[in-house]
Amino acid sequence: LHMQVAALTTAHSRPHSECMTVSSITIPHWVNNRRHDGTGTRSADVTDPATGAVTGQVALASEDDAAEVIRATADAFPGWRDTSLAKRAAVVFRFRELLNERKGELAAIITSEHGKVLDDALGEVSRGQEVVEFACGIPHLLKGGFTENASTRVDAHSVLQPVGPVAVISPFNFPAMVPLWFFPVAIAAGNTVVLKPSEKDPSASLWLAELWREAGLPDGVFNVLQGDKTAVDAVLTDPAIKAVSFVGSTPIAQYVYSTGTGSGKRVQALGGAKNHAIVLPDADLDQAADAIVGAAYGSAGERCMAISVVVAVGDVGDLLVDKLASRAREIVPGDPTAGNEMGPLVTAAHRDKVVGYIAAGEEAGAKLVVDGREITPRGDANGFFVGPTLFDHVSTDASIYRDEIFGPVLAVVRVESYDEALALVNSSEFGNGTAIFTNDGGAARRFTNEVEVGMVGINVPIPVPMAYYSFGGWKNSLFGDSHAHGIEGVHFYTRTKAITTRWLDPSHGGVNLGFPQND
Ligand code: NAD
Repeated sequence: LHMQVAALTTAHSRPHSECMTVSSITIPHWVNNRRHDGTGTRSADVTDPATGAVTGQVALASEDDAAEVIRATADAFPGWRDTSLAKRAAVVFRFRELLNERKGELAAIITSEHGKVLDDALGEVSRGQEVVEFACGIPHLLKGGFTENASTRVDAHSVLQPVGPVAVISPFNFPAMVPLWFFPVAIAAGNTVVLKPSEKDPSASLWLAELWREAGLPDGVFNVLQGDKTAVDAVLTDPAIKAVSFVGSTPIAQYVYSTGTGSGKRVQALGGAKNHAIVLPDADLDQAADAIVGAAYGSAGERCMAISVVVAVGDVGDLLVDKLASRAREIVPGDPTAGNEMGPLVTAAHRDKVVGYIAAGEEAGAKLVVDGREITPRGDANGFFVGPTLFDHVSTDASIYRDEIFGPVLAVVRVESYDEALALVNSSEFGNGTAIFTNDGGAARRFTNEVEVGMVGINVPIPVPMAYYSFGGWKNSLFGDSHAHGIEGVHFYTRTKAITTRWLDPSHGGVNLGFPQND
């Protein structure tokens, strides 16, 4: 891995992407397999979070830009829908091969705009690649059922057809993996896609678009619409878009769900999280502390499956907090391309918000055990760094307990019993991920049965499901009824049709006004 990371650092210094060419807008849209500047009326700065430098300008779509990209996506649908499954699967397979060969380039682009360390960026791409591999099996996944002689000389079968042009709207924290949760399955199933990436780290989307072109995807099947609310509102209301997959914060997920479904679309909208890890008294505390520290501070806490609350049950609190604190103090954030374990936060505004939460935690009376504001980063002082932060004795009405901070801030809450811990997890408005640390199989089994959360880990801190299962939370962590990828993803991007067939036979019984019944 270290060799790979060294290679990535070199790749990053020679950007593969054409987006560095001279132009007033350097990170444009992508339409019909080409970069597209659009009207060019609005744009936003993109920064390197490790240095604070502005590295690009991303186009922000106007309504006209959005209409143009959506039209191209709709125009490509009939041809792609009618392309044979064998040919569609072959394109997805080539995309997988290219991605596997060149994922280092993509990881370097992610690090340069998001700030996560290179091996974490590589990990993100690899988890996304799993979904591409799942989508390579699309001929099997789209098999319908067939029943011969369901009624006398009547056969029944079902087919799964694509829903049409669809949209994917993604957050900043996984600029490659989250789009890859959706578009490989959508495209393999015969839909055409418009991706609206986060405006904070938009370049990964163009790299992926170029890869699709190289893999032989026809014009218009995968398009990128760069932008903000204007672009989102356009895809939510344009009648050509039939389904929307969204991932982001809960208030926007709720807005996307209600606006999209209000326009008659199928919508899955994944929202925010506040993931609790319960530590029972019989747990191996060193193992639990290692796992929790990785899950709380990895990617600077900017993961929807990050652990942000530890629920210490019984008398484990003091020892556990000591173990968490000693590990947290050893992590010094720094240049994400230089072998550090943790990088900066994504923007200066987000860094300021996280620092504000640390101050609010102190004011609320929680015990600040490790203060991430005090670190000296191993990197550019202008980078958006905050170190690992640990609070103990956090009250459940403090904002550091209630709100999703999305930074390296871990809150320890102490309770007396398993029942109290479970009640705490189940009373959260969120239900994305959770974990329990214990050596008691009976307790773990009871927890998986009783907890109201979509993804559960037993001694596993970040239980992200494999591509052939489905990813999604409960409650305010997901609006809609389909989770991402796996069989639920295939269902989301297809419509089922049931066909009943009778071939005329000399013995047919003539006119019958009754409701069809089996005979
Ligand atoms: P965000 O909600 O700010 O943005 C997500 C997307 O919505 C972006 O493409 C953005 O351009 C767009 N958007 C932002 N404001 C909008 C508005 N007012 N109207 C319409 N569109 C708007 O989220 P983010 O900060 O990019 O990402 C972090 C959030 O995403 C966290 O809450 C995190 O938990 C969540 N997330 C959830 C999952 C999950 O699987 N549940 C996965 C990753 C991230």
